[in-house]
Amino acid sequence: MSVSDSLLVFDMDGVLVDVSESYRETIQRTVEHFTGEKITREKIQDWKNQGGWNDDWALSNHLIGLAGVKVDYQTVVDYFQSIFHGNGASQGLILRERWMAADGLFERLAGRFRLAIFTGRLRWEADLTLKRCAPHLRFDPIIGNDDVTRPKPAPEGLLKACTICQPNERWYIGDTVDDARCARGAGVPFIGIAAPSSPRYKALVAVLKGEGAIAILDDINQLETVLKA
Ligand SMILES: [Mg+2]
Repeated sequence: MSVSDSLLVFDMDGVLVDVSESYRETIQRTVEHFTGEKITREKIQDWKNQGGWNDDWALSNHLIGLAGVKVDYQTVVDYFQSIFHGNGASQGLILRERWMAADGLFERLAGRFRLAIFTGRLRWEADLTLKRCAPHLRFDPIIGNDDVTRPKPAPEGLLKACTICQPNERWYIGDTVDDARCARGAGVPFIGIAAPSSPRYKALVAVLKGEGAIAILDDINQLETVLKA
């Protein structure tokens, strides 16, 4: 079997990259900026576990609205982006992101699989972090939120990757219930990532199992235990 017969499609945030100090922190700061109230990481995870809140702009906007504060959506997005990418006065939290794979993991996987990404990020934001953290790795295709008409949990982006690659075998690796639903909708086996240190860990494992995950791993470095040669 050749490399191109087998496809691994990765979600990005929480799978390839630790975003606890970038996206999750940006949600907290954005909500606090407009409402004056702090929201906990546990509460944010509760919303993620519920599904339908893959988009961090939409979730921030929703949380601000729930606090009874009326702000224009674009104003929320602009503030969010100024924290995430920096605004001249301060560095963007995107720079806090950490590549999660140990040295050699993707080099070994690339010998056996074609590697692709389907992320809820805009494609240029995915490229930015990939260039900084893993410039030597090749993911193809990289499908961002702006490459699909329907974001996760819709399966469109995952199906697009499968159409491009035409693999015999394929898997999707993600860390949220929306990723699992996306995989189920596409008919692609799903491997869940749930960090034991993450808030609401047990609830996350339960929802990923409930969506039919074939395995749940602490992090991406355990992937080869599932994908045995
Ligand atoms: Mg994710």
